[in-house]
Amino acid sequence: MNIVDYLRVSLIDRCNFRCQYCMPEGAEIDYILQQNLLTNEELLTLLREVFIPVGFTRFRLTGGEPLLRPGLTDLVREIAAFPETRDLAMTTNGFLLAPLAEPLYNAGLRRVNISLDSLDPDTFNQIIGNRGRDRWQQVWEGIRAAHRVGFDPLKLNVVVIPGVNDHEILDLAALTLDRRWHVRFIEFMPIGNGQLFGDRGWVASETLRQQIRDRWGLVESRVTGNGPADVFQIPDAEGTLGFISQMSECFCDRCNRMRLSADGWLRPCLLNETGQIDLKTALRDGASYEDLRNRVRHLLDIKPDINFKQRDAGTSGGYTRTMSQIGG
Ligand code: SAM
Ligand code: SF4
Repeated sequence: MNIVDYLRVSLIDRCNFRCQYCMPEGAEIDYILQQNLLTNEELLTLLREVFIPVGFTRFRLTGGEPLLRPGLTDLVREIAAFPETRDLAMTTNGFLLAPLAEPLYNAGLRRVNISLDSLDPDTFNQIIGNRGRDRWQQVWEGIRAAHRVGFDPLKLNVVVIPGVNDHEILDLAALTLDRRWHVRFIEFMPIGNGQLFGDRGWVASETLRQQIRDRWGLVESRVTGNGPADVFQIPDAEGTLGFISQMSECFCDRCNRMRLSADGWLRPCLLNETGQIDLKTALRDGASYEDLRNRVRHLLDIKPDINFKQRDAGTSGGYTRTMSQIGG
């Protein structure tokens, strides 16, 4: 059986972008009320007293946009300082990263994934729902700062949207030719506002690989991380390419993770809410740490039976919550 030791921790459900596939401008999103967010202290208590004792040792901070979380650098320092922490990473849109890259690195963050769906500022602004200022350049500065500071591997996440950015696959892949970066192409998921692109559907990873193979060739490779990506490399390139194919392949049997939402719900599967538990309320109601550990252990026991395959089988909300709410 798979060891589940990787926790994706959503720090906040709000965001400074309005990606069309996630939380588009005007969408009605029930944001978590401030008083329902886990405080930094509660989060650290859950990690120290509950998750680490049951075996979680690898953590990814996400959101919403995690760089919006107050006290983020201190939080990172505390999580990195747990002797059991083997890996601490973050997924961010990169917009606020440039000035924070060094403090976060010094606090103990070692890996960062930055979302960059396009190299063209106009397309980028269209995707992130920004009709005003150009935000691409500031994200690029964030990426460069992370590179300078030494985040390695530096990963870029590209959600491939048919008819919007799929003509840029070769340009994005070319970023790895002379940089030690890891560019990951993610199949677009019908989650949150996923129906937006309706009929256009999603592009299978194999189609992208074939384009890259035809241009440069492609060999299997490896990269540090916990992800479900199939990793390849253009021959002699400095960096690597990842393909996350959750739509065209089922990798549930390799799943090593759970997700903790910003309001303290522990969820066993991205697209399935079965069994999820409200740890924040239990903690605030005075449940003992042993009781909380037992609830998590139970969820770990039943997790193998909760997966993507059943996502259509009437589980509540799997498709209606956005990645920003679940903690993507
Ligand atoms: N705000 C940060 C960011 O965008 O990197 C972290 C949170 S975001 C929800 C995490 C990842 O989920 C991003 O790489 C984003 O592109 C991806 N994502 C969001 N909605 C998606 C969808 N419908 N299909 C595939 N990936 C999605
Ligand atoms: Fe914000 Fe990330 Fe969602 Fe885009 S994908 S709206 S950056 S949380």
